[in-house]
Amino acid sequence: MTQFDIAIIGGGPIGLACGIAAKQAGLSYVILEKGCLTNSLYNYPLNMTFFSTPEKLEIGNVPFMSLNAKPTRAEALEYYRRVTQLHQLNVRLFEAVTSTERLPDSRFSITTSKNIYQATNIIISTGFYDIPVLLNVTGEHLPKVTHYYKDPHFYAFQKLVVVGANNSSVDVALETWRKSADVTMVIRDEEIGTRVKYWARPDIINRIKEGSIKAYFQSSITAITEKTVTIQTPDGLVTIDNDFVMAMTGYQPNFTVLENLGVALSDDAIKQPVYNPETMETNQPNVYLAGVVCGGMNTHKWFIENSRVHADMITKAIVGKSGT
Ligand SMILES: Cc1cc2nc3c(=O)[nH]c(=O)nc-3n(C[C@H](O)[C@H](O)[C@H](O)COP(=O)(O)OP(=O)(O)OC[C@H]3O[C@@H](n4cnc5c(N)ncnc54)[C@H](O)[C@@H]3O)c2cc1C
Repeated sequence: MTQFDIAIIGGGPIGLACGIAAKQAGLSYVILEKGCLTNSLYNYPLNMTFFSTPEKLEIGNVPFMSLNAKPTRAEALEYYRRVTQLHQLNVRLFEAVTSTERLPDSRFSITTSKNIYQATNIIISTGFYDIPVLLNVTGEHLPKVTHYYKDPHFYAFQKLVVVGANNSSVDVALETWRKSADVTMVIRDEEIGTRVKYWARPDIINRIKEGSIKAYFQSSITAITEKTVTIQTPDGLVTIDNDFVMAMTGYQPNFTVLENLGVALSDDAIKQPVYNPETMETNQPNVYLAGVVCGGMNTHKWFIENSRVHADMITKAIVGKSGT
């Protein structure tokens, strides 16, 4: 079957929640995921711990059992896989949506890397983890610079610069330092981010205070070479020896998917997509948004905890329209 009431673009936690809600409402649907199941979570750091307690990450009324107060990445992967199995969700994996088009009868044609589908409604739940926010400095494209972090062992006995002072940067700095990396943080603001997990913040502050981890506050990188990093600090330019740079400068949604469908974005730096907060329908009829993509560049506004409700809101709106 290639015709559906709903095509859901993105098989993250919120795309899966949308699939469950559609199924429960008796609507036909397909979830199209460009990578593996919950691809973003799969690509998170190996030892990552969620800040949410397990019940706040639950979807489809399936209990999330964790051995810890805060679940790990591995537990979350296991959980969402079991949910997919239990609800027998119609997910097509490794199938990237490459283009979308509104047909004359106002339905949509959705082309993926493997197939062409038709759907009456589209839900965009493409997340934010695919495109990093760049530093825009010379040398950023050297192989030693990365925006994604997997595992600390790789950096043992290496001179590592970590850019940023939020959760990801702090996790990287602490983990790699504990595996014998020589860590220097470059931080734009004057302090460690206030949103950093309450158990990690004092840890990093104390490591910086005692000098175990070096930090340049109110500073930014101006250039990267094979062997050095140059930093603009309040005391002038400083150049330090360096092996690797971990630029944890955040990520941004893929706006092309939204723009191709004609979803309006605000003119400012946030690029806020236009949608009705009660139905999640965009300015384009029958095109809905769900999950972290709803915030535009404000990628901290929506997360699993507070956006899983989008699934029921959208289904209710679609069912309401069709009068079923
Ligand atoms: C380190 C870290 C820790 C976090 N901890 C928490 C936490 O404790 N609690 C919490 O609530 N949130 C947390 N978050 C945020 C949370 O993970 C995201 O908000 C969540 O993943 C959003 O789910 P989503 O389904 O909207 O997007 P995603 O999980 O990003 O899923 C989007 C999916 O769309 C797919 N996709 C993109 N483009 C296409 C395309 N063209 N075709 C097909 N598929 C496509 C992607 O491959 C991806 O699988 C954390 C995030 C990070 C980075």
